Amino acid sequence: MSTDSIIIRCNGCDYRHHEIFAPITIKCRVGDDIVTYDHTTAWCNQCATIRYIEFLPDLAELQFEYDRRVRPLSAQPIPKSVDCKFGSSKPLLRSRRYGGNIKDLKNRIIWRQARHTPPHCLTCGTADITLVDYEAISGSELILKNFRHSCGGALVIDYKEDPGIRFCGFKKSVVWMDIDGNILDVSEEKDEDAEVYDLPEF
Ligand SMILES: [Zn+2]
Ligand SMILES: [Zn+2]
Repeated sequence: MSTDSIIIRCNGCDYRHHEIFAPITIKCRVGDDIVTYDHTTAWCNQCATIRYIEFLPDLAELQFEYDRRVRPLSAQPIPKSVDCKFGSSKPLLRSRRYGGNIKDLKNRIIWRQARHTPPHCLTCGTADITLVDYEAISGSELILKNFRHSCGGALVIDYKEDPGIRFCGFKKSVVWMDIDGNILDVSEEKDEDAEVYDLPEF
């Protein structure tokens, strides 16, 4: 597997972060089932750089998606709010529309109801992170609009600044978390893991 990358740089100092879109799956055991969830990007105050962190979907969004699937159209409610509990952890650079089956979705709701801690850094494990929102400032530039680097500058992604590198040989890594977001294990995805998703509909 090969993957792309981007450069995130500070416009006030020489900080540069080369973000490699490494394939990662986060998994958590909930009872006899396994819930798979996503990651996003944020500033880790402990690592003092951009890191991958857990992406915790909003419970109301999950419940709304579940209701949308299991109820007839005429009975579907309109959600009062789909704002994320932890602030601005909006999807970044990738679509996060949920594509699993109903049983997976129900398990994700059970997991999300039991998960009370904020997202953790996938590198150092801290929850001391700053969620960031990106805003386009030109045709090719995004700025982290709610974050200032320690130098006072802003972090910018410039897509014209193509690092020109594709990284090859990536294996999909699996990060196993407990229900509180503590890293239990990091391993490579194995073929038999695919069976985990083959759950019956109910
Ligand atoms: Zn700086
Ligand atoms: Zn960290």
